[in-house]
Amino acid sequence: MIIGGDSFVDVMPDETELLSLFESLDIYDNVFEQDSIVDYWKCNSGSLSKYVWSVIDSTLDLNASPSKLPTLPLERYRLISKEEVNESSSKRDTFLCVSREQLLDAKISRAKLLSLTNSPKPVWHFEVEPESPVHYSPGDAFGFFVENDSRLVSSLLERLKINDTWYVEDTKSVPPVTLEVRSALRKQFDLYSPPKKSFLLLLSEFCENDREKRALVLLSSDVGRDTYRSLFIRGRVSLLNILVTFPSCQPPLQRVLDCLPFLAPRYYSASSCYEPCGRKIDFVFSLVHYPIFEGKKWMRRGHATGVFDRICSQLEKWSTHDLRVTMFHRPSLYFHPPDNLQIPYLMICAGTGVAPFRGFIEQRRRDYKNWLSSEDSRVATQEEPVKRTLIAPVYLFFGCRILGEFQEYLDEMESDLSSLPDSKLFVCYSRENGNEKYVQDLLKKHAEQVSNLMFSHPSSCIYVCGDGANMAKGVQESLIDIMNEQIFGNREDAKNFMKELSDEKRYVQDIWFWG
Ligand SMILES: Cc1cc2nc3c(=O)[nH]c(=O)nc-3n(C[C@H](O)[C@H](O)[C@H](O)COP(=O)(O)OP(=O)(O)OC[C@H]3O[C@@H](n4cnc5c(N)ncnc54)[C@H](O)[C@@H]3O)c2cc1C
Repeated sequence: MIIGGDSFVDVMPDETELLSLFESLDIYDNVFEQDSIVDYWKCNSGSLSKYVWSVIDSTLDLNASPSKLPTLPLERYRLISKEEVNESSSKRDTFLCVSREQLLDAKISRAKLLSLTNSPKPVWHFEVEPESPVHYSPGDAFGFFVENDSRLVSSLLERLKINDTWYVEDTKSVPPVTLEVRSALRKQFDLYSPPKKSFLLLLSEFCENDREKRALVLLSSDVGRDTYRSLFIRGRVSLLNILVTFPSCQPPLQRVLDCLPFLAPRYYSASSCYEPCGRKIDFVFSLVHYPIFEGKKWMRRGHATGVFDRICSQLEKWSTHDLRVTMFHRPSLYFHPPDNLQIPYLMICAGTGVAPFRGFIEQRRRDYKNWLSSEDSRVATQEEPVKRTLIAPVYLFFGCRILGEFQEYLDEMESDLSSLPDSKLFVCYSRENGNEKYVQDLLKKHAEQVSNLMFSHPSSCIYVCGDGANMAKGVQESLIDIMNEQIFGNREDAKNFMKELSDEKRYVQDIWFWG
């Protein structure tokens, strides 16, 4: 089975009768209710509709005249029957952003929870086995295609009164590409990103009910700017939510597709190191959820991590099933550890940003092991001081949230680092009592060791990895402070030093931002 929301059917077997209900359109949505997560459909379409209309009624005068209307999207897709599928058109079942040759079919073989049980933000380690071996380096990422839930797509097709014998033709491609309509909706289009104003205007053209039509026109116009932001940007109301709340809206599927963005692959850094005789690649992710419907305590799960979280929690149960995923290799340009054991480096991360560093450390450990069994080491180790100049230390600074989280990784990396000369692991916990809450505080606490390591070799490096701009900014400020206090006695020179490191690719960041 290709992964996507399909697994959900098995996770919640009692709920299958809800399939027929249109409320199930938002089955990925979750609601936080008194600290426990309950499924979205318990908050039925009635409350969704009430929410949307209460925002509209309280912020928008439906009698106002629309101003500055957007331009309607151009027509790009065509619905065609099977008979019409032209022999010359390329019928396919793939994604547009990578070529078929780059796609890897892989099996998810194991999952292990790295966070505490019942954590509201589960962190998972999972292992994937591609059908053909991939030669990757520590620091590389892989793109995963996670399909939309099949029931979600069924509900959407039902709502739009389309049966799945139809094909979608992309008239922009030469030759035209055709996809089965169900396949297109599952694999190609992002059903959750906030609809653009031009999309709302288009939907208004297909409303029979005058109030619904007016509301959509105004939302797409300058008059409805604040309401648009509240509902769609901050409230993350999706196309599916609109179709629930505007029942008279009956747009043709091909025009809906004209407005939908492509479903982007999600990237995950390999948390392992390539093994010549094995295929397994490790990853680590944390479940993303974000607030929806401004002013309500409702949350929605991230598209990929929501699916991965369900799959990982059910992996034991699925062990006899063939859980497959489509992925591709995305090599990193500069985010790689030096292969020279004489070069010291710092690794700085928070949360799942530890992923590549697990691979870095494993690589270093193997290189060191090879060196130990080599002729060079036999000469060098006769004198301890010589050995010290040959093997440089590496430090990992790791910011976790709570004690116990990432424990398996911590134990393993601590053991690996302790087998490398002078190498160390430094950890802090943001949700525990302690002076150093964040990784930037931890760096400052060990300022002398940080600067000593950096100035012990002309090619020393710093690697920073994690999600979010704040961590990267905080780390950069701390490093400048450290260089200022320990070496330069002047912030400007410390800043210039960091810039030089960055220009020389000796200070490399792999930071994940989101919109
Ligand atoms: C090169 C690269 C490597 C990456 N490696 C990893 C990795 O090893 N492990 C890992 O867990 N992630 C990693 N990511 C991030 C990952 O690709 C996804 O962005 C993330 O898992 C969320 O995907 P989603 O589909 O679940 O959420 P989406 O459905 O894409 O997210 C929905 C919304 O949630 C918000 N959001 C997205 N991500 C976050 C976040 N992290 N925190 C808070 N809010 C967010 C945004 O508002 C977003 O629009 C990496 C990203 C890149 C570019």
